[in-house]
Amino acid sequence: MAKTFAGGVHPRESKEATEASKISSIPPPELVIIPLSQHTGAPSKPLVEPGDEVRVGMKIAEADGFISVPVHAPVSGKVKAIADFPHPLGRKLPAIQIENDGRDEWIDRSGWSDLTGASPDRVREAVKDAGIVGLGGAAFPTHVKLSPPEGKNIDTVILNGAECEPYLTADHRVMLEYADDIIAGFKVIMSVVGAERGFIGIERNKPDAIKLMREKVSEEKGIEVSDLKVKYPQGAEKQLIKAITGREVPCGGLPMDVGCLVQNVGTSLAVYEALKHGKPLISRVLTISGSAMESPGNFEVRIGTPFAHVISAAGGNTEACRKLIMGGPMMGIAQHTDEVPVIKGTSGIVLLSENDVRMEEPGPCLRCGRCVDQCPMRLVPNEIARFVEKGKMEAAEEYGIFDCMECGVCAFICPSKIRHVHLMKQGKAELLSRRKKNG
Ligand code: SF4
Ligand code: SF4
Repeated sequence: MAKTFAGGVHPRESKEATEASKISSIPPPELVIIPLSQHTGAPSKPLVEPGDEVRVGMKIAEADGFISVPVHAPVSGKVKAIADFPHPLGRKLPAIQIENDGRDEWIDRSGWSDLTGASPDRVREAVKDAGIVGLGGAAFPTHVKLSPPEGKNIDTVILNGAECEPYLTADHRVMLEYADDIIAGFKVIMSVVGAERGFIGIERNKPDAIKLMREKVSEEKGIEVSDLKVKYPQGAEKQLIKAITGREVPCGGLPMDVGCLVQNVGTSLAVYEALKHGKPLISRVLTISGSAMESPGNFEVRIGTPFAHVISAAGGNTEACRKLIMGGPMMGIAQHTDEVPVIKGTSGIVLLSENDVRMEEPGPCLRCGRCVDQCPMRLVPNEIARFVEKGKMEAAEEYGIFDCMECGVCAFICPSKIRHVHLMKQGKAELLSRRKKNG
């Protein structure tokens, strides 16, 4: 039986339009915008000034602290501005704008020596230096995950190839097209944290990837492929750990509390490329799809490329386009402009037409209990939402609002169309601002 977790839902997969689409490259535009904040943690600090010449792979902003990463030039050319630009998080944020000279001249990497067998500390340093973050969407700095605190023993690493969000197939294609490099990166990650067991978790709707990965790891000691039930949010860290190992991450806890580390398949590839070839994270693979996209597909795109350029280079959108999302439709972020750039966490761009965009007004809670039955975090979403609406923030906190991972299962299943995720975000923001005020 395929492995899974309790709760969850089955949204329409909508992956057929791109799952067979091989990854192709979108040439970078004339102007790229590289935000200083593309990761969880402190924004990076610029190392360049307007007028400076840059080459591909050059570090243009440095990490500001341990939980931070540097950013690198994705094109060669000249720095045009350092200013606030539209950001996929919904507001203008500081970014470095570069005028592309079209020459695609890289920094000199001829002296690079293979670091895949280097000491754990050297690997962590190189991974940080390459600006690598989790590519599944959360964008947490990878070197931090590779540095568990003293006393936390990691015995299991899980490579996340679940890709449970509708429409997205980038991880699927990356597994099919870069299997050897992903596994090489995975082995380094396992060795850095000293884990004896490794699992590659893949949903059953990707049988070709399961087959290929099984063939590739057949000779690898301690690594196996877990086929997972097709269910959302199967790719969420805690649900993946529960499904594969049976271990339960405690409320407010982290995977390392149960001896696990989870990395996305694309992150493993980025780790390998950084260590083997000295390639910093200047591009990523993403899916562009949705009912309002003319030619859906999977593309390697330079970080900093505006969505408008990606959409047009991929074939353009239809006139029926009503909604633009970064990521998938369940956990993605709706965009109000296509001027925002691709950032390290952009796993997909989804464009939806009228028929797929329901904007029904929420009705009263029917107390049907569906949201409670299906919440993968075993919360009581209807009650938490009610507390937030009524301003009863202490009660919302007591009911575990901070354990909500904003997966959208409750909103998806609710017959009254209550906007739980919006209320969860609002409640958390309110509580955090109260905490700040009270010191
Ligand atoms: S959004 Fe939060 S409350 Fe709703 S199902 Fe997901 S984890 Fe549970
Ligand atoms: S699913 Fe909607 S209507 Fe049913 S209990 Fe939850 S919030 Fe209420």
